[in-house]
Amino acid sequence: MSRRTTTSNEEFHKVLSSSKHIFVISGAGLSAGSGIPTYRGKGGLWKQNDVMKLSTTAGWVDSPSRMWQFYESRRALALRAQPNEAHYALARFSIPKIRHEMAPESHFTLVTQNIDGLCQRALQKVSNETDNIDAATSLPIEMHGSIFEVACTNYSCKHREWNDDSPICPALAVDDGGVEDRAGDPVVASRSRFEILREELGRRLNATNNEEVNEQNAAVDERLATCEGSEHVVPTAELPKCTKCGSLVRPGVVWFGESPRHMDEIEKEVEKADICLVVGTSSTVHPAAGFVNTIRQRGGKVAVFNVEWTRDWTPDFLFLGPCKETLPAALGTSK
Ligand SMILES: [Zn+2]
Repeated sequence: MSRRTTTSNEEFHKVLSSSKHIFVISGAGLSAGSGIPTYRGKGGLWKQNDVMKLSTTAGWVDSPSRMWQFYESRRALALRAQPNEAHYALARFSIPKIRHEMAPESHFTLVTQNIDGLCQRALQKVSNETDNIDAATSLPIEMHGSIFEVACTNYSCKHREWNDDSPICPALAVDDGGVEDRAGDPVVASRSRFEILREELGRRLNATNNEEVNEQNAAVDERLATCEGSEHVVPTAELPKCTKCGSLVRPGVVWFGESPRHMDEIEKEVEKADICLVVGTSSTVHPAAGFVNTIRQRGGKVAVFNVEWTRDWTPDFLFLGPCKETLPAALGTSK
């Protein structure tokens, strides 16, 4: 039996208005509209090979210094980025008094695979602007952790905490540009690919179109070609430390091979969901793919908001395009 796909906001509103448990799974495409590169996609600032190496415990064991340089650069990029209209649409929709105008009896769960903290920041801003925030407002569930959390590596401590200091420690400060400032510094001669990539982050954020982004990527490649093999090593003593026990901390994100966080809570919501919104992700990677499949197999509706759809089945609703354009209208939370 083939399902019919519709792209009509009106029909989507009808289904949404009778939904009781609305479940959202979001991914990198949600933050693409905020200038955060999709790390696996074309034009990502980091090559796929690097990202794989930099997203595993093996990479951490190999070099905490390299890992921290990479994550500090992602933190700097995320802090300079702003939530976009899709983040705000979800944030407004998570507030019961706003959502209930569209879906009167609904419960709402937002699970994000993103680690950039932009869903949280959007909710914070919306809650500052509105008196409607209440205890029933759902906080986004960050299943892959957050780059603004640090986790103690001492097993007898395991302390985790929020930390959005920038830089997180002096030795990891992102270089704001000035190669000139460092003229004469012997480090300049052996600038690492990480240092250079960190310098490029600011420039990347200022790009206003794809052409500029491509030009910058070419410039980065050229610069990287001159520094292969060199690596700036930050001594472990200068890397971020636990505020409780003084041991080395690691980024509070989930690496390949580690279990996603909050899975019990997420699975309970998946079991109840009668509609699943897939936002900015192709949802081909488990466990996110499993959430969508489970909801679908139980007869729940699926609505996709993404630049493309490549799965071999048809969602009930398909809104192709940047989600910062499609989502606010579909949720009725445009400003
Ligand atoms: Zn500790």
